Amino acid sequence: MNCTRMRQVLDAWIDGELDAATSTEIDRHLAECPACLALKGERGALRRELRANAPRFEAPPALRAAILARIEQTTLPAPAPARHRQWLQTAAFASIAAAVGLVAGLWIERPLPDDSLREHLVASHVASLTDPQRLITVVSTNQHVVKPWLQGKIDFAPVVRDLSADGYTLLGARLDHVGDRQTVAIVYRKRNHVINLFAWRAADYTAEALALQSARGFGMATWADSGLRYAAISDIERTDLEQFARLMQP
Ligand SMILES: [Zn+2]
Repeated sequence: MNCTRMRQVLDAWIDGELDAATSTEIDRHLAECPACLALKGERGALRRELRANAPRFEAPPALRAAILARIEQTTLPAPAPARHRQWLQTAAFASIAAAVGLVAGLWIERPLPDDSLREHLVASHVASLTDPQRLITVVSTNQHVVKPWLQGKIDFAPVVRDLSADGYTLLGARLDHVGDRQTVAIVYRKRNHVINLFAWRAADYTAEALALQSARGFGMATWADSGLRYAAISDIERTDLEQFARLMQP
């Protein structure tokens, strides 16, 4: 934990959103860094001030009841218990899939060092698809607009390429958090499919070769370059995702 990282995660930590390991790192850093401790004090004071003096509005009972009713309606039914035969079929399909993966070479299931990171990336991809406002904060098909917009907000510079000649349209970008990591998602479109290209700092990854895998049915391509890790996630054809990832390589 250093001061830059501390500033990125402080608010999430104050809101109790971080895991225990990161919280321990934060406690340790605060014990030895007066600057960050002071910042924490300021945020705490602001929080108390807002709680005490900012106007609050209670939802009327009718609105509350209507929202609860809607939630009730949209609750998914519990999945039917899997039967033995279904399990066998699934196992058979899995072996076929594994064999195909071996033949394809690149598609061998190769988990990221951090499995929960992969989960977070998929969750963020899915969330971005369900909410168009969340998908893109800066809307632009021009990498000379997207890159400077990012530079004002993060302390790293991910690759933003114009791949329109290859059929990948740049839609824009947004800031995102994956776990406690500050990430950027650069958003592309191929036909009707969205590609979220996540990038984040990982000082211990100077370079990592392209790896392809699947996660919850989505294709995921990962690589690292110059201390940045990248993960491209989409439901496009695997060959397209691989092509996209290769085009993004240095
Ligand atoms: Zn500090």
